[in-house]
Amino acid sequence: MSDMSMLINGLKVSAEKGATFERRNPLDGSVATRAPACSPADAVLAVEAAAEAFKTWGETGPGERRALLLKAADKLESKLPQFVEAVAGETGGTGMWAGFNVMLAAGMLREAAALTTQVAGEVIPSDIPGSLAMGVRQPAGVVLGIAPWNAPIILAVRAIATPLACGNTVILKGSENCPRTHQLIVEACNEAGFPAGVVNYITNAPQDAGAVVEAMVAHPAVRRVNFTGSTRVGKIIAATCARYLKPAVLELGGKAPLVVLDDADLDDAVNAAAFGCFANSGQICMSTERIVVDEKVADEFARKFAAKAKSLPVGDPRKPDPVVLGAVIGQATVDHCNALLEDALAKGAKLLCGGKADSVLMPATVLDHVTPAMRIYHEESFGPVKPIVRVRGVEEAIACANDNEYGLSAAVFGRDLARAFNVARKIDSGICHVNAPTVHDEAQMPFGGVKGSGIGRFGGKAGIAEFTELRWITMQTQPRHYPF
Ligand code: NAD
Repeated sequence: MSDMSMLINGLKVSAEKGATFERRNPLDGSVATRAPACSPADAVLAVEAAAEAFKTWGETGPGERRALLLKAADKLESKLPQFVEAVAGETGGTGMWAGFNVMLAAGMLREAAALTTQVAGEVIPSDIPGSLAMGVRQPAGVVLGIAPWNAPIILAVRAIATPLACGNTVILKGSENCPRTHQLIVEACNEAGFPAGVVNYITNAPQDAGAVVEAMVAHPAVRRVNFTGSTRVGKIIAATCARYLKPAVLELGGKAPLVVLDDADLDDAVNAAAFGCFANSGQICMSTERIVVDEKVADEFARKFAAKAKSLPVGDPRKPDPVVLGAVIGQATVDHCNALLEDALAKGAKLLCGGKADSVLMPATVLDHVTPAMRIYHEESFGPVKPIVRVRGVEEAIACANDNEYGLSAAVFGRDLARAFNVARKIDSGICHVNAPTVHDEAQMPFGGVKGSGIGRFGGKAGIAEFTELRWITMQTQPRHYPF
């Protein structure tokens, strides 16, 4: 069990009155971490530290920011063993998942380092003689980043890396489910040498999240908010931000369809579907959540996919044997997935493999013949229970892929690339991959969703636009004509 602290103004601090909360391991209930339970007043101290630090950090050149971000990437990688331990202890995630998280998160810091010289503006032709008109990007100020537990290292690094590259100071609000994992990221930044107050970290007890977040959003120094998490909480954050007119990037839930057309390479589609469905036990926003298969190839696809799913090992990620499916985050996921499964079976779905789970060690479970009458057709499972929906032809496949409140990621499999590409273009999602899995993230890509999956984009130049102010500045270089 690790006892931990927050980081405010470069100092390791506990919460007001020493308040703490516990995160327990999902498998055995042992205390994984005891973390500070900050109050709204503690959170305001973090904002004030960030606001003070912004006065100098906002003026630093790209070279200084780049060097620190690169160093933070190295420090992050050097903490791989601690991350593996913290991820298994706090969220039940596997060593493979922790390792992938560290690798991509380090890449995000390096990409952010490269972005420091890309925070560019433009000269815009003006109709006023002698007016040099510019669009200038400047750091916004203090950025609040709120991260979830499911891809804990990637998503918390994403919440702060581009904002820092643009010259903002940040507060990371860690997840109640993985406060130690998130703290390791902030430790890496601190060890890299970011000046005091540039990177701040707070943790809160679950019941205090609303009050703590609102205290920060309300503070005038906070100029941007980013949130990754569920659509339910995303709407609460959006409403809070609306009350204080704060722009927010919201990366929310998903129900990614993977479409298998009648000419797909089925082995390829099976491998992509298995990876997209069962990586991190299906607890990824981009997880394949609905497999839409042309009925001409559905029997063969279902047989091959079920055989692959059955072969995936499940187990305690803290033990030496490597597993694909570790523990899910908690009993609520087990109950939710069991309820989806029971509902589908009662309405005529066919169980191909897996089944009702009796613990957080959930097996890969596949349901065939799923219809719109079943809850699992519509609802995010966020677990390893996956539906196959059979359709007739391309138009029905597109309609099924879009019959959904979400729109984050999607995939289409087909050998006729032009046809598959045209299907991809008609899918209403922020991201779509042809002949590749729904789970795919790279630091430089514009990442984000449409509809219930959120607003705004992380990644590359899209991220610069989110975390800077675009100002119009002119300089009059010759006498100006006035009408009076
Ligand atoms: P969650 O929404 O329950 O919690 C995320 C964060 O919200 C936590 O830090 C929590 O403290 C905070 N929070 C909770 N209640 C709050 C309130 N009333 N006011 C303010 N903040 C509050 O999400 P989760 O269960 O941790 O993560 C899983 C969800 O996240 C899934 O739906 C998944 O699809 C989504 N997700 C989306 C992306 C993406 O990039 N689009 C990535 C990963 C996960």
